[in-house]
Amino acid sequence: MLAFTMSTAKAEPAESLDHFLAQLRADATARGITPATFAAALGGVTPDPAVLAAMRHEPEYGKPMPAYLASLVSPTRIAAGRRKLTQWAETLRAVQQRFGVEPAVLVSIWGIESAFGEAADRWDVFRSLATLAAARFQHPLFRNELLSALTILQQGKIPRGQFVGSWAGAMGQPQFLPSSYLRYAVDFDGDGRADIWSSVPDVLASIANYLQKFGWRAGLPWGFEVVVPQKFDFRESRGSFRQWAARGFHRADGGALPDAGMAILFFPSGASGPAFLVTGNFVVIKTFNNSDAYALAVGTLSDRLRGGAPVRAAWPADDFQPSRGERMALQRRLAALGFKVADFEGHLDFDLRDAIRDQQRRFGMTADGYPSRAFLQRLGVMAR
Ligand code: CA
Repeated sequence: MLAFTMSTAKAEPAESLDHFLAQLRADATARGITPATFAAALGGVTPDPAVLAAMRHEPEYGKPMPAYLASLVSPTRIAAGRRKLTQWAETLRAVQQRFGVEPAVLVSIWGIESAFGEAADRWDVFRSLATLAAARFQHPLFRNELLSALTILQQGKIPRGQFVGSWAGAMGQPQFLPSSYLRYAVDFDGDGRADIWSSVPDVLASIANYLQKFGWRAGLPWGFEVVVPQKFDFRESRGSFRQWAARGFHRADGGALPDAGMAILFFPSGASGPAFLVTGNFVVIKTFNNSDAYALAVGTLSDRLRGGAPVRAAWPADDFQPSRGERMALQRRLAALGFKVADFEGHLDFDLRDAIRDQQRRFGMTADGYPSRAFLQRLGVMAR
């Protein structure tokens, strides 16, 4: 569920695992981790070369939007998701009643994170986290996650053997890092343990609790594909749904826009591609994985699970999405031009897209908030 940057990995020297664990022990003790728990978790642990290899592997960035969406919102996942909606209808209703998150969104995240639990990774969480922390990858994130994992084990409800996850320690069917487990995992089937590895009610409730804690608003759609009116002047990027309707926008599927709620106009691939009006709940989905493409995949998958149509407008044939390096260079450049930039790790938020719009106006370009190759080049940012 997390994308990592390599920049911080290079900045810090690695230390030997034994030395690292000796240092960690005092902090663990201060958190109430007993020597027995520490030994059960990390006794005899060695660095995992496969984790180090995965850490060094530059993740895929800048994948064209249609290819990315096609891989996540696949016919197989849509069909499986619809079966899960039926199979778990009663549980999903109960989860929605308690946390306010609708079933199709929960099933979409569940399906994308772990193929509904079928894609469960089997990396040992303690070994992975210790390897990454000793390598000072994303320091101090993985060191803290290791301490959180020790805390979970110390609580005694999750057996040592169950601590399996992704190479980077994301655990169970919702792919929670240990700190997220401690904050958001929920026991929903009532057996006294929040089992995100094998209890579907616990998995669904934990995802819902996570979203609710990050501000999910019950009853608010994630957004809609919209048709942009011919005469739109690209001056506006935000407004209430009513305002958007008054500006001549309508839903691509012909349905009515809601009467209430604010929405942001979002062009994932620029004004020549599909347009969306997205809400605060779209931004909440990004707390699960800080990427507009991810949130769009969750949103459009949830539409398909409810029987909705695929995205109607055509994506540009040679769709360009900037790589992480290009996005980071863009952020530095916009900051140098005086724009407020919240994050220099390459995550695009809607404030940054508004800054792009301002700069596009100065260049006399269509102000769609999309960092096209032409825009990056005009800005002096080296782009592929
Ligand atoms: Ca449980």
